[in-house]
Amino acid sequence: MGDRYFVDEPILGTSATLQGAEAHHLLHVMRAKPGAEVTLFDGTGAEFPARVTQAVRERVELSILERRDLNRELSVSVTLGVALPKGDRQRWLVEKAVELGVARLVVLKVSRGIVRPNANTLERLRRTVIEASKQCGRNRLMEIKLADFADFVRDAPANTQRYIAHPTTNTDERTIKAAPSEPAPSSISAAIGPEGGFTEGEVSGAIELGWRPLDLGPRILRVETAALAVATLAGLGQLPHQRSV
Ligand code: SAM
Repeated sequence: MGDRYFVDEPILGTSATLQGAEAHHLLHVMRAKPGAEVTLFDGTGAEFPARVTQAVRERVELSILERRDLNRELSVSVTLGVALPKGDRQRWLVEKAVELGVARLVVLKVSRGIVRPNANTLERLRRTVIEASKQCGRNRLMEIKLADFADFVRDAPANTQRYIAHPTTNTDERTIKAAPSEPAPSSISAAIGPEGGFTEGEVSGAIELGWRPLDLGPRILRVETAALAVATLAGLGQLPHQRSV
């Protein structure tokens, strides 16, 4: 896959420009010179082998050699609504969600949230999305946005299969079987709560709107473990009721 660099605007013609952190990486970390070949992507689904033609300070000009439409996305669109954990676990969660093919990560504002996410939090996490996409070869950027829990559960489209991860002590509920009559969904939304868990009101409100409670086993998982377990199962078509993808 080679060295990949992100261009923050659609690549449409025969040339492209790298600036800022991406130009710095190419020039000062990789020490690229004119003639060097790299791969560019613009987050819209394709990648572009390209050659450095000029490098001046923090600006690199490249000529586009080819456009390759390489789809490395899941066949089901997965949205994770997550109450963020603290500190560096946020970056870890976002990096792994990108690698697992999550289409959209919605940072949830919940009653028991310990982190107060704001625009700066999202900006920082978007940089992690780019870094992870460069590393894992994804050509579409995982979208990141912020939402109140109530809006997230209310606004999810009804044709999306919706899950709210919540531990249960009822072992009958744990073994929900797929319903054979249900068609395979093309999109999945799942909500994962904060360290203190969802409130009973949040869980019952979501269930009233058609969200399915999802139990991930008899151990309490950290937020990021639960989020990545759900992303993995969704990507493999293995969530209860999901059938095949
Ligand atoms: N004491 C909290 C509770 O009982 O809900 C634990 C919260 S857990 C650290 C954080 C989030 O991860 C939960 O709100 C839930 O969304 C998800 N989670 C953790 N373990 C889970 C499990 N075994 N089944 C389903 N969801 C789980």
